[in-house]
Amino acid sequence: MRTILAGNWKMHTDRAGAVALARAVAIAERAAGVEVLVAPPFPFLEAVVAACSDSAVRVAAQTCHAEAQGAYTGEVSVPMLQSIGVQACIVGHSERRRYDGENDARVAYKVKALLSAGMTAIYCCGEELSEREAGRHHVVVGEQLATALKGLPAEQLGGLVVAYEPVWAIGTGRTATPEQAQEMHGFIREQLVRLLGPAAEPVPVLYGGSCKPDNAAELFALPDVSGGLIGGASLDAGQFLELVRIAARCVAERRGV
Ligand code: PEP
Repeated sequence: MRTILAGNWKMHTDRAGAVALARAVAIAERAAGVEVLVAPPFPFLEAVVAACSDSAVRVAAQTCHAEAQGAYTGEVSVPMLQSIGVQACIVGHSERRRYDGENDARVAYKVKALLSAGMTAIYCCGEELSEREAGRHHVVVGEQLATALKGLPAEQLGGLVVAYEPVWAIGTGRTATPEQAQEMHGFIREQLVRLLGPAAEPVPVLYGGSCKPDNAAELFALPDVSGGLIGGASLDAGQFLELVRIAARCVAERRGV
């Protein structure tokens, strides 16, 4: 199983801060078996790509447009991102669903555009608290996955990463319990194979939502958790690198090292 740690910097940092943070992550000793990505705001992408260029750290955007070009004021396309060395993109983050009207029908086009271009799509799904309390979390996440991902060709699935981010856990300090996370990750894996066939078995499923060094070890050790999408803790190089080390320890334990 691939293990991935992706830092979503959201609308934080300035140019100098973004470059310093990227450099601190890039020069850290490479944690064996963990793929590391950072997702700065649009204006700092190119500088962060340069800051990471001598390392294995990959740079992701936080959203994109599905069309390659056109009259879409304010938008940024996949070829534009690729042209400056961005290799991945987060799509369907709950903050974009909440504040920008992003829905799975739109996200489906974005995922297709990214995968067709050979980029990595980090697709976020997850239920609201009221939906979990009503016992609807499986229905909600199942529908999200079906709408956004159904029909993707098997040969492009190497570029797909899913992040389960229960909305009630993002930036709230409240994490899913290991039982809740494992149960939902297992469900997501089943749905991926049901929707996309056996080629979806290796698709990484990350956990996101108030993941910090003091709760990460038990989450990353879960059998169906392939690492994390990290918001708040990714803005502090020390905390983010500690999360990378924790993920690396889980990889080593899985391999019996
Ligand atoms: C996120 O924004 O994707 C996220 C998981 O945020 P936080 O870690 O701050 O909850």
